[in-house]
Amino acid sequence: MIGIWILGDQLWLKQAALASCSQHENLPVILIESQQHIQARPYHQQKLVLIWSAMRHFAEELRQHKYSVTYKIAADFQTPLQAWIQANKITELRVMMPNDRPFTKVIQSLELPCQITLIANNHFLWSTSEFHNYAQGRKRLLMEDFYRQGRRRCQILMEKDQPVGGQWNLDKENRQPPKGKLNTPPAKWFAADAITLDVIDKVKSLSFPTYGEIEPFHWGVTRKQALQVLDWFIQQRLPHFGPYQDAMVTGEETMWHALLSPYLNIGLLHPLEVIQAAEQAYQEKQLPLNSVEGFIRQVLGWREYMHGIYHYVDANYSEKNWFNHTQKLPEFFWTGKTEMNCLHQILTQVQRTGYAHHIQRLMVLSNFALISGLSPQEVENWFHAAFIDAYDWVMQTNVIGMGLFADGGVLASKPYAASANYINKMSDYCKSCVYSHKERLGENACPFNFFYWNFLDQHRDKLQTQGRMSFILKNLDKMSDEELNSIRKQAQDWHINL
Ligand code: FAD
Ligand code: SF4
Repeated sequence: MIGIWILGDQLWLKQAALASCSQHENLPVILIESQQHIQARPYHQQKLVLIWSAMRHFAEELRQHKYSVTYKIAADFQTPLQAWIQANKITELRVMMPNDRPFTKVIQSLELPCQITLIANNHFLWSTSEFHNYAQGRKRLLMEDFYRQGRRRCQILMEKDQPVGGQWNLDKENRQPPKGKLNTPPAKWFAADAITLDVIDKVKSLSFPTYGEIEPFHWGVTRKQALQVLDWFIQQRLPHFGPYQDAMVTGEETMWHALLSPYLNIGLLHPLEVIQAAEQAYQEKQLPLNSVEGFIRQVLGWREYMHGIYHYVDANYSEKNWFNHTQKLPEFFWTGKTEMNCLHQILTQVQRTGYAHHIQRLMVLSNFALISGLSPQEVENWFHAAFIDAYDWVMQTNVIGMGLFADGGVLASKPYAASANYINKMSDYCKSCVYSHKERLGENACPFNFFYWNFLDQHRDKLQTQGRMSFILKNLDKMSDEELNSIRKQAQDWHINL
């Protein structure tokens, strides 16, 4: 007898383990809410609600499709699995290959009275072996090359073998700073139903540390709701997604962003349907190509690339620390209590929602962590705990690789390091800050400034090997020794005073 174990990020009726069985009527299926599993770090309460509520809703959906569903709330995985295998006389347990490597190890360490078969994962456009074949033997693994290959392979925004509109990448049109009244559309949120309210009560009663505010909880928890968010995005947000993609505005938590990662990452949506919906809207409604291409590049390019790289690199990728950064994560990452307005705004937003958009994550949170020399592993752990859409595969690559350049350039072609100048240009945060974005020394100097120059100075040798940094390093060379010494001292004192 075959039995299927469905993990909390595999909530799709067509997922590979279910699809591997020709007969689904009365097929035994199990889902397990394990408390042990979520004590690795203090997860955002809304993430726990999202996953457990989505799992419970998915169990209902499976029952409607006549699967024989067992739903267990347990301390660990081993005990309920063992009992269920024996009770159902299961001889082969099928599980779709987990996205996260640590979870594959958990499965391999289980002692179960039956055979375990891992079925190749079908939640991505490129399987791990397809990516491996693509990557092997290449001199460089640039996202842009991979993205173009993905466009050709899936025939997205293509005219024969050429990109629609003649250009592959319209990113240059998508970097407008926020100016004037923006009239952003509202986000698609949902009221919590009875199942979600039950889960909220459960999470409130947990006896171990968690993070963030649990209410208001208004994320979708079913495929039907995820499809509504997709539709809402296509109708309301995609037409203007491009131009202000990198902009940050106080009180505007989501701008024109899609809010789709929480659903994509647990299987409620498949990337291909998301990409095709955007392409269809481009064809039928003549939406601006910079917005449509910009969005499709995120899903078909970046998301697939991050997943592919995660499974391609060595398992010790998570331990990488190219700059040897060892500063501890400041407590304000957990509390949001800092006078740096950009960090305060974004950290308190993450506490409230579990969400920040890409540039808030990259150019404020991880930029600060990079230039102030925080330990990559502590920063990764924080991101993993704090975000509604965080999983090992997407954390290692985005935080260790893209955000902190701790892999020494496997993934990004240069470190995403910036001073207050960038944040002032792309946001309104500096206007209400006690620090001056123009000053790099003294009591009022913005910490992003002295940390930025200190970072360049400290790592000059390593950065010199990165071709794209030479122009910036020339500016460092123009600085007097006196100023450089003061910058070094102010950066050092900041950590001591903290
Ligand atoms: P949009 O801006 O509207 O983008 C569309 C979609 O593209 C996203 O839903 C997402 O699925 C995909 N996408 C875009 N960029 C990436 C990327 N770099 N990696 C993976 N998918 C991408 N994404 C996560 O899904 N989970 C995370 O925990 C996560 N942590 C991040 C941490 C850092 C330091 C950085 C720099 C990026 C991180 N990202 C993460 C990538 C990206 O920021 C989020 O996917 C995006 O902000 C999600 O919001 P959205 O759905 O509104 O995205
Ligand atoms: Fe952030 Fe510096 Fe601007 Fe303040 S002045 S908001 S700390 S970048």
